[in-house]
Amino acid sequence: MFRRAAPAALLTLSILLLGGCANGDRRSAQPAPDAAGSPSATVPVPDPTEPTTPVRPPTSRPTTPGPTKSPTRSPGNGGKKTGPFDTRRLTGSKAVALTFDDGPHPIWTPKVLDQLREAKVRATFCLVGTKVRQHPALVARIVREGHSLCNHSWQHDLELGKKSEADIRANLERTNREIARAVPGAKVGYYRQPGGKWTSAVTKVAQSMGMVALHWDVDPRDWDKPDAATIRQRVLHQARAGSIVLLHDGGGDRANTVAACPQIIATLRKQYGIRRL
Ligand SMILES: [Zn+2]
Repeated sequence: MFRRAAPAALLTLSILLLGGCANGDRRSAQPAPDAAGSPSATVPVPDPTEPTTPVRPPTSRPTTPGPTKSPTRSPGNGGKKTGPFDTRRLTGSKAVALTFDDGPHPIWTPKVLDQLREAKVRATFCLVGTKVRQHPALVARIVREGHSLCNHSWQHDLELGKKSEADIRANLERTNREIARAVPGAKVGYYRQPGGKWTSAVTKVAQSMGMVALHWDVDPRDWDKPDAATIRQRVLHQARAGSIVLLHDGGGDRANTVAACPQIIATLRKQYGIRRL
């Protein structure tokens, strides 16, 4: 009896796990985006933060390759400059860009910053408003050390794009206000939709606020906690001139990402150069 039941139980478990990833983090399963401000907005749930890219331009290569299905560097990959809804997915030059999402985080963000400083490279940090509120000094350090800032919504709102433009604007403005409170005058030049779940509405609002809608070109799926070697291998295999690399310094245990970064940084810097956005 057990032997018959076990596969079904495993299957159920798998579905649950996969469903968890595909639905993104539970932080955003979700009060209204601006219902936060309460302590509940900071529920420390480790989260898979950039689930499989659900909105994919039909002609682009997969952004979510698994370990056994790595993308190639075939010439066919090179033509598409924009991501979903005309978001930016390449730097526009040979140099690649590193982006770190879901922070600031008191453990992982300083480690990433230390590595970037050591390597003398700059990156872009996509910040979650509630995390900015908790760790304003880390935002100040990010800016002080010359990195770029990107709005990543108030509380990693995966479904934000489905809301009204007024609600989207309020969410993005709230996040930018929190960043401004942490670092007065800091420029937030980018917006990245959590989960890559872009809609025309969210892109339009971000752009109307003067932010570039920032997608990515390389996604090692580090939110799914592969080991460091796998993260490194995926990034270095997928990267090409102009890639924008999606990594995470927040939203969960990022030890593997942090462990992968030294070689990622060294190799990409040598091959293409690394620039902030
Ligand atoms: Zn995210």
